[in-house]
Amino acid sequence: MKQKKIVLVLYCFFFYLLCCFAQNINIVDLTQQLNADLYWDTLSGTGILEKKGHVVQFQTNETLVVADYVLMKITDAPVRIDGNVFVTENFAECVRSFLDSGNGESLFTIGAVLIDPGHGGKDSGAVGKHNVDGKKFEIYEKDVVLKVSEELYKKLKKTYPDKKILMTRSDDTFLSLEERVEMANAVPLDSHEAILYVSIHANSAFDKKASGFEVWYLSPGYRRTIIAEDAAEKEILPILNTMLEEEFTTESTLIAKFILENLDAAVGDLSPNRGIKEEEWFVVRNANMPSVLVEVGFVSNEKEALLLADESYLRKVTAGIYNGLAAFIMHFERSRGFTGE
Ligand SMILES: [Zn+2]
Repeated sequence: MKQKKIVLVLYCFFFYLLCCFAQNINIVDLTQQLNADLYWDTLSGTGILEKKGHVVQFQTNETLVVADYVLMKITDAPVRIDGNVFVTENFAECVRSFLDSGNGESLFTIGAVLIDPGHGGKDSGAVGKHNVDGKKFEIYEKDVVLKVSEELYKKLKKTYPDKKILMTRSDDTFLSLEERVEMANAVPLDSHEAILYVSIHANSAFDKKASGFEVWYLSPGYRRTIIAEDAAEKEILPILNTMLEEEFTTESTLIAKFILENLDAAVGDLSPNRGIKEEEWFVVRNANMPSVLVEVGFVSNEKEALLLADESYLRKVTAGIYNGLAAFIMHFERSRGFTGE
C-alpha cells in the first residue's frame, strides 16, 4: 500500500516536471521580463498583460490571444499548474513582439461617459418616508440621483473637455430602460473609442436598519463584429466573443473597484461600504460598453435619508464616484504621456 502511494507521488511529480518543461515560463516571470503589468482573474482563467496602454489578453487552455482588443493570433495555450500559469517560448515571443513593437500610444481611449440618473418623472424610484422630530420627511430616489449625476457631470466636463460627457436625463422626466440603452448605443464613437456607462441609484429595504453604498458591475452581453467573413476565422469566432465579453467584464470590475475604493475614502465612517456585487441587469446587459451601477445609500434608513438630503454629503458621494472614474480613465489610457519613449 505504502509503495503504491510512493509510485503515485513519483508519477505526479514526473507529470508535473513534464508540464513545467513543456510550458516552462511562469507568466509572472514573463510579466517582469516584459516590464508589463498583469491583471489576472482566477475564476475565468483570463489575464491581461498591459504595457504602456497596449494590452494582450489570454485565457488558460485557449490558443487565441487578442491584442489591443482587435488583433488576434493563434499560439500555444497557457496552462495552469498548481495555481501558477505557465506559457511556452512561442507564447512569450508572440506577446513580446506585440508589446514591444507598438509606438507606445494606446489604441483605445474613453471617448464618452454616459451618466444615467435612475428613474425620473412618474417613476420616483425608492421613496423614504420618515418622521423626524415630529415632522414628516420624504425623500425620493429620482431626486437624489439627479443631484449626484448633475454634480458628477460638471466635474467630468471640467476635467475632460475632449470627451463627450452625457446624461440620459437632466431633469425630472421619465425614461424607459430601452430608451436609456438606445441613448447609450447611439453615442457616436471613433473605432478605437470606448464609452463608459455609469448608472446612479439609491437603495431601499424593508429592514429600516440597512444602510451603506455599493457598486454593481454588470456582465455585458457584448458582441463586437470585428471579424471578417473569413472561413479560417469562423471557428475561432465563439472563442473570441467569449473573450471580448470577459474583457468588458474585467473592465467593469475595475471601474467598480476604483469607484468603491474612492467612495469609501470620500464618505469615511458616515456610511458603510457594502462591497462590490455582480448581477445581470437590463440596462447594462444590453449596453455595449463597460458599465457600473452605483447605489449611493438607503432612503429607507432614517439616518442615511437625512444624509442623502444634505448637499454637502452628496458632494462627498459625488467626489468618490468622480475619483473612481478618473482613476479608471487613467488606467485605461495610461499610455498617454508616455509616447515617443
Ligand atoms: Zn433605482
